[in-house]
Amino acid sequence: MGRSWSSSAAGTRLFVTYAVASLVPVVALGAVLAQGSRQDGIERGLEHGRAQAAVVEEMAIAPALHGEDLAGGLTAQERRRLQTATDLAVFRGSVDRLRLRDFSGAVVFSDDGWLSGSPGAIDPGNDWSVPPDHPAFQTAAAGATDVQIVDGGSSGRAVRVLQPIVADSSGRSVGVLEILLPYEAVAADVEAATARDYWRLGAGLALLYVVLAGISWSATRRLRRQAAQAAHDALHDPLTGLPNREMFRRRVEEATRRSGSCAVVLVDLDRFKEVNDTLGHHAGDELLRLVADRLAGTLRADDTVARLGGDEFGLLLPGVSHPGAARDLVELVSEQLSTDVVLDGVPLTIEASFGIALHPADGDDVETLLKRADAAMYQGKRGTTGIVVFDPALAAAPSSRLITAHEVRRALEAGELRLHYQPKVDLRTGRTGGVEALLRWQHPDRGLLPPGEFLPAVEHSGIMGPLTEWVITQALVDCAAWSAEGRDWSVAVNVSVRNLEQPEFAATVVRLAADTGVPPQRLVLEVTETALPVDLGATARTLATLAAHGFGTSLDDFGVGYASLSHLRSLELAEVKIDRSFVAGVGVNAEDGEVVRSLVQLAHGLGLTVCAEGVETAAAAEWLRDAGCDRAQGFFFSRPRPWPALPPGGVPDPAGSRPPTPSLEMTP
Ligand code: C2E
Ligand code: CA
Ligand code: CA
Repeated sequence: MGRSWSSSAAGTRLFVTYAVASLVPVVALGAVLAQGSRQDGIERGLEHGRAQAAVVEEMAIAPALHGEDLAGGLTAQERRRLQTATDLAVFRGSVDRLRLRDFSGAVVFSDDGWLSGSPGAIDPGNDWSVPPDHPAFQTAAAGATDVQIVDGGSSGRAVRVLQPIVADSSGRSVGVLEILLPYEAVAADVEAATARDYWRLGAGLALLYVVLAGISWSATRRLRRQAAQAAHDALHDPLTGLPNREMFRRRVEEATRRSGSCAVVLVDLDRFKEVNDTLGHHAGDELLRLVADRLAGTLRADDTVARLGGDEFGLLLPGVSHPGAARDLVELVSEQLSTDVVLDGVPLTIEASFGIALHPADGDDVETLLKRADAAMYQGKRGTTGIVVFDPALAAAPSSRLITAHEVRRALEAGELRLHYQPKVDLRTGRTGGVEALLRWQHPDRGLLPPGEFLPAVEHSGIMGPLTEWVITQALVDCAAWSAEGRDWSVAVNVSVRNLEQPEFAATVVRLAADTGVPPQRLVLEVTETALPVDLGATARTLATLAAHGFGTSLDDFGVGYASLSHLRSLELAEVKIDRSFVAGVGVNAEDGEVVRSLVQLAHGLGLTVCAEGVETAAAAEWLRDAGCDRAQGFFFSRPRPWPALPPGGVPDPAGSRPPTPSLEMTP
């Protein structure tokens, strides 16, 4: 409300500015036109005087003359006739004063009877009269007419006309008529014409101004509407019409500034991706709109629902300060949300995880509140309850905090993942035949994280695919790099059964190897035995395809799972890796020794090579070699490292013979 008022006030201001600004050129134009019109009026007045003088000359003066040059003087008859005509004109008021002069300037007739005694003399009483060398007189003597508005002395302002006298039809001029016409008549004419012009001009300009103002009014209104629309779009989600993340942040900020309590709730739909993937984006959009409606429908009037992006929504509940109260409110929302819906003919139950953070208990700035609500929400996603209020105990022990698939995706995109490599040593030659790639996360706050800290979160998410693709690519790129340095190591990568179940996985591996130019024989794919599903179908097919292309395949953590012999035989494998839980006991524990020995025999019997994991001592290495184990891996030879830090020639590595520690090696 306040916003729209202030924007309309701003619009009015803009319009007024525009209106005032456009008034300036209109007024200036008016001034110029008025000046011109006044000038025109004066011109017309002078023209009027000229015409009047011509009439006097033609009708009164010329008929009274005989047609001889005035220099010869006038006859008595001429003078009498002139006197009669002039008297009449002066009496009628159409002429003020009048004189006839010869070309030398001598006055041969004047209405008041004054005549020059000698040529060129000027009557001192007639200050309106001009001397013969005056340009006006010269003009008239040369046959043209001169008209001026003059100050006629005793007679006030007047129009003075000097014009040639043409006394007969010969067209020859005989002298100069000097005549003073009353100004008032001319002035009245001029005034009337000017006033008329002014009115027209004024009306025209006013109309122009009104049109301009109208245009500017509608333009500013349109601009204002567009600006308001743009402002709205910047803060709202186009799909649902709800406030967007930015607007939500602002609202939360406002709520925390007002210092009352409030709850910030993040809502994330469960399995939204499945709806999108199976029913299509249209259904996905439909679902999001429905969720938006349901969320908005359940909340109180001053609560805020926002769409933060994807399938994530935010709720701001002002005045809620107790975890219990927040939970009660959110439970209502959750109930309302989970009413069944039919989308594209498919009945669905909408489920969501809710993470709640309270102000001021859990934080007093937007950033913290959102982060904590987020943490609580992901806790909800992992656990069984869908509604979780942030628990400070979780924040107090950050290392125990479980990492979310979300965060791993961010790490992958931010390039925070690394590969360390551990040598697989040939026990007969003591040389490194290959290395195993082991994933690490160089976490910005928590340092180098081992896969056990973040892979469990990823295992059942959509990130497993892209993550494995990244690992394989990086491993192949590194393999090409060490090959260029003359190290002929193969590289083993760990893949999830999830990867192997994807029908396009084998093709992806083939493509990646081709892209990096690494021969298939140099890449080994390790799959963990414990993760094998009961139904091996897709996994077996993928492994067979990979083996057919020449890639190596290896069964990891062999011995701890429940893989039956038939499983072993139905998979296209080249190697088994004996789990380190057995290896740790060899040479010390007779039972472990027996298990390892029989596992080696079993594998060899199936035509597989055997690699022992977790070799930590020289004695264990020796024992394994004697037991017929082909390869071994472990801290005794080398800890996992970035490949340039590995011993190039082979092992044992002097550094590897340090007493082993269970903690993870940091990046050198
Ligand atoms: P894994 O495939 O069995 O890898 C061997 C693990 O044993 C590694 O742990 C390695 O650091 C550790 N290890 C090696 N030698 C010794 C030793 O002498 N003593 C002891 N106590 N441990 C040793 P890490 O690196 O923490 O990896 C753990 C597991 O994470 C791996 O077990 C593997 O299953 C999984 N993993 C690692 N990288 C990837 C990956 O890129 N993708 C997938 N899907 N899983 C991976
Ligand atoms: Ca492995
Ligand atoms: Ca293993």
